[in-house]
Amino acid sequence: MKKTSRPIQFLRLSICFVLLLTLVPFEASAWGRKGHHVVARIAFNHLSAKSKAAITKLLQADQNDKEQCAQQSSLVDKFACISTWADAVRRDPGFTQTASNHFVNIPVFVPAAQRHYDANRDCASKDCIIAAIESNRAILADGSKPAAARVQALKFLVHFLGDLHQPLHNVMDKDLDAANPENQGRFQDKGDRGGNLKLVNWLGETSSLFGCWNLHAVWDDGLFDGIKENDTALAQSLDAKLTTSQIAKLSKGDVVAWSEEGLKLAISKVYKLPKRNPNDKACEVRKPDSQFRECRSQDCQDSEIHYRYTLDTKYRDKNVPVVKSQLSSGGIRLAHFLNTIFDAMP
Ligand SMILES: [Zn+2]
Repeated sequence: MKKTSRPIQFLRLSICFVLLLTLVPFEASAWGRKGHHVVARIAFNHLSAKSKAAITKLLQADQNDKEQCAQQSSLVDKFACISTWADAVRRDPGFTQTASNHFVNIPVFVPAAQRHYDANRDCASKDCIIAAIESNRAILADGSKPAAARVQALKFLVHFLGDLHQPLHNVMDKDLDAANPENQGRFQDKGDRGGNLKLVNWLGETSSLFGCWNLHAVWDDGLFDGIKENDTALAQSLDAKLTTSQIAKLSKGDVVAWSEEGLKLAISKVYKLPKRNPNDKACEVRKPDSQFRECRSQDCQDSEIHYRYTLDTKYRDKNVPVVKSQLSSGGIRLAHFLNTIFDAMP
């Protein structure tokens, strides 16, 4: 038998690797890496000396350094590094119950007077982002708790305060496609899961590494393509633009107010979408256990049928400033939140 030549073997291996990557279960969730890193880097500039000392000490007690943050040389790099830990562990044994801690589903389709956070309606199981921030705050602020528990709470807080500033982490719209006649009986409307079920054509592309482009992924990652600076440069330039009075103003309010600010932005900016093209049909396969998704434009026999929104550079250019402003707000508020805890401790 003829032996396969090395370049062909390599090509086959590469193709297998790419195929494997596309099979990795992945759902866009929360600001992508860049968003979380920028929020953490802005926050770091505003941490008190007492906060920095406490964080340095706590990080030494970290027993689940999945992102290998201890290898980072400076405290600011370590602090940026831990900001994505909560996403990295959300499917690990012992952490699956934290998946719902990353968001809150405040409905946008109710009458205007009811469009606000209602704990009984939106966080009945006390596992939404607002409840999770409070429970982790209580652990971090309690000096009698073991350091390992407190550093875990710190890592959750650095992440969740970031997530809170991604507008789509605060809302739920209807899944408009549930009403498509061709979807009758295929699935029920359980909401659009913060835009995850609004499929989009993003600047000419219908899918990326994580599967179908959807509105949530556009806000996690897509809009960042319009920002050329790296994490550090972006954090510095955003921070440099903030005036003392803006910083003081941003630090006011509480977690509920910040969440409702995201809700308002979702209604006024994020969900301001063009009409869908009736010819731009996509099928989505959803396997509930793995959340594996696949986008196709034909052969929709056993899948859900969704129509795509076409989002172009106009949508991008209008919303990149919203992303930047939310990153600045998130950074200032994360610092304020942690300073309030650490500065009050003995
Ligand atoms: Zn998250």
